[in-house]
Amino acid sequence: MSLRPRARIHLNHIAENWRTLQAAQPDGLTGAVIKADAYGHGLPQVAEVLHDAGCDHFFVAHSFEGESARRALGPNPVVYVLNGPGPYEEPLYREANLTPVVNSDHQFQTLVTWLQTGGKLKNGYALHFDTGMNRLGIPAGDAPKLAEAVEGMLPSLIMSHLACSEEHGNGMNAFQQERLSAISALFPDVPVSFANSGGVWLGQDYHHALTRPGIALYGGGMPPKDAKLLPGMTLEAPILQVRSIEAGESVGYGATWQSSEPHLLATLAIGYGDGFPRSASNKGFATIGTQRCPIVGRVSMDLITIDATSARNLARPGVFAQLIGLDAPLEEQASLAGTIGYELTTGLLPRVTRIYED
Ligand SMILES: *Cc1c(COP(=O)(O)O)cnc(C)c1O
Repeated sequence: MSLRPRARIHLNHIAENWRTLQAAQPDGLTGAVIKADAYGHGLPQVAEVLHDAGCDHFFVAHSFEGESARRALGPNPVVYVLNGPGPYEEPLYREANLTPVVNSDHQFQTLVTWLQTGGKLKNGYALHFDTGMNRLGIPAGDAPKLAEAVEGMLPSLIMSHLACSEEHGNGMNAFQQERLSAISALFPDVPVSFANSGGVWLGQDYHHALTRPGIALYGGGMPPKDAKLLPGMTLEAPILQVRSIEAGESVGYGATWQSSEPHLLATLAIGYGDGFPRSASNKGFATIGTQRCPIVGRVSMDLITIDATSARNLARPGVFAQLIGLDAPLEEQASLAGTIGYELTTGLLPRVTRIYED
């Protein structure tokens, strides 16, 4: 039996989450964001299972991720490259049939050059407007200029991205929505994409023609209580050693945790060298059975020590403890480590074996 940490990837859960998102938005199309190796779950595997579930619109950040998606998906689904086209990438986009998302004047010039030199884009291109996030996208004020410039080469999609989608009451959402409406009026009949996962939960007004959920597919983010998302992965690590300690002993580097009474400790084969954050030291937890066992002492490169006193009857070498999953919710674990679910799953390194389950 291997003593490596493992992430069991629940492809059936990811497909079920996609169907849940689609049911929340019956009038439009539900896409899938599979950038960063599908948030650490495996891009080709996730692409394939979502395509089988009925998804035909995929989003990646980089063109090389788009090539990988195309290989997994076959010829038909649309694959958008969010970070946009680079000057020498026309052959790559053509051969892999990728759809560039144009984010700036500079990228628009790149696209024009491609088209003028005989480039063809089977699924057109998207125009991404920045409606207030000031991160990436064509400034909203440039929309009229663009509307003129695209004459004869209309985009196949207009998009924008929400800055505060996880906060229902935040006025930024309505502000961005208004700006996007004004922009979309300049491009009559061009479909609009606005909502990420948080945007889907904001309700119908935010859905438009095509949504772009990412984190919700993998069971994270801030879904409403009745949404019932399933975990995309179960992260677990085997117990290497179990020991009893007396009151007054300490644990780990820097001796940052001391026992005030006798405890049973279990040492797990996972650490920051696997991408589990060191910031979870003395804050995160693992579960054995359904018992929660707090992380005690510092997370080190290869090892984590947990207080397994409450799981005394189950804790023994070779038993796997769970760090992310049904008993250890992703966002709760992430928050204890001072981060978000996105960073936790995308941060897992290749030393964690991925096991694919249907
Ligand atoms: C990553 C990303 C998404 C997905 O966001 P989630 O919060 O994971 O649903 C959607 N749109 C854009 C432009 C993104 O960069």
